[in-house]
Amino acid sequence: MDTNLCNGPANVGFPIPAKVAREAKPDLTLVNIAGVEVGGSAVVVIAGPCAVESLEQLFDTARTVKAGGARILRGGAFKPRSSPYSFQGLGEDGLKLLSSIRAETGLPIVTEVMDTRQVELVNSYADMIQVGSRNMQNYPLLKEVGMCRKPVLLKRGMMATIQEFLLAAEYILNQGNEQVILCERGIRTFETSTRNTLDLSAVPMLKRLTHLPVIVDPSHGTGLRWMVPALAKAAVAVGADGLIMEVHYRPDEALCDGHQSLDPDEFTQLMTDLKRIAIAVDRNIL
Ligand code: PEP
Ligand code: MN
Repeated sequence: MDTNLCNGPANVGFPIPAKVAREAKPDLTLVNIAGVEVGGSAVVVIAGPCAVESLEQLFDTARTVKAGGARILRGGAFKPRSSPYSFQGLGEDGLKLLSSIRAETGLPIVTEVMDTRQVELVNSYADMIQVGSRNMQNYPLLKEVGMCRKPVLLKRGMMATIQEFLLAAEYILNQGNEQVILCERGIRTFETSTRNTLDLSAVPMLKRLTHLPVIVDPSHGTGLRWMVPALAKAAVAVGADGLIMEVHYRPDEALCDGHQSLDPDEFTQLMTDLKRIAIAVDRNIL
């Protein structure tokens, strides 16, 4: 299927940064995460806990998401928490757990880096480096991950426009790293009933403006476990190249974001439903 949704003038009222622009190269960019390709006709699901908490939690959750059809495992070792008194993540011990579960399950891992001083460490464990919403405009960090030869998952800043999002990605490409995935994860609006307002219009917009793959995070996008399946399905329907979702083997006991984490049964059911949505839009779930 033709995944090029970028025909015709975009008329967005701002110049598209040179390297990320759809016109910059003839083909769409395929990002290869330790053998798993994002940006082609298959929709790739990334799933796992918000934070790495323990070997048991990570192993159990990883087994579940793998059995359900996820191809990449997520899990934060360095967590950006609003409160300094909240669980901050296990740090390097968390990276070691991720690495051992990768060896056990074969799932590549994506994990967040928050600080330029941690890039080398995170890079030595991760298959894909995540730059979180709060750091989308941390320009030294963007340059540093741009110097890594590792895929980067760049999450949209919660207050960032599409133009600012593309400019942030351009920082990474400017350092010679073109392996960048853009992630819509909800923006702040006047609405308070959801944690964020998931801007699904960003998906076709970004697909039109850039050659980079675009994925959606309905977990942070809504903050509501019960709403995640509906928005995950909608994301695939509007053309997302993948999803990143929080799943926990016991959401009620999660140290972070349990309220928006799917339990194993909910995840398994969702994956079944997503396959049907994918077929309806001429895609498949990898
Ligand atoms: C995350 O994915 O773990 C996370 C903290 O998300 P965001 O940066 O989108 O808030
Ligand atoms: Mn989270």
